[in-house]
Amino acid sequence: MSDEHVALESLLVAFEETDPLRTRVHRVLSALPCEVQSDFIDDPRFYIRPLTRKSSCETLLAFPAPDGSVSRCVVLKKRLATCSLAFGLYVIAHELAHAYLRNGPWQQFADPEEAADALAASWGFDKPASWF
Ligand SMILES: [Zn+2]
Repeated sequence: MSDEHVALESLLVAFEETDPLRTRVHRVLSALPCEVQSDFIDDPRFYIRPLTRKSSCETLLAFPAPDGSVSRCVVLKKRLATCSLAFGLYVIAHELAHAYLRNGPWQQFADPEEAADALAASWGFDKPASWF
């Protein structure tokens, strides 16, 4: 395995090896530009995990760093593993775009939702015309 592959795997430790959602998240992560991958991999307070009934995101949040930056948590619903591939990959990319943008704007898109959609589209994950 390449170093980059190992690094991406490190973002997926919250997923069971056999979790189909893990495969989809890995597919999206692999398609991201290097600087975006690095932004996630180099941030010890960034993580992705499946939504489970037992735990809530808050229980896992890391403390803010001395510079005031906060942890970024992407929580993905299990349904994203069973919905259509295009829609699942789009939602995963959209959520990762929010994390990369710290829920902020991007280029001419002031609205965080539009910004996340536009950035995800720039990565190759357009919003599907149909969700199913
Ligand atoms: Zn959104």
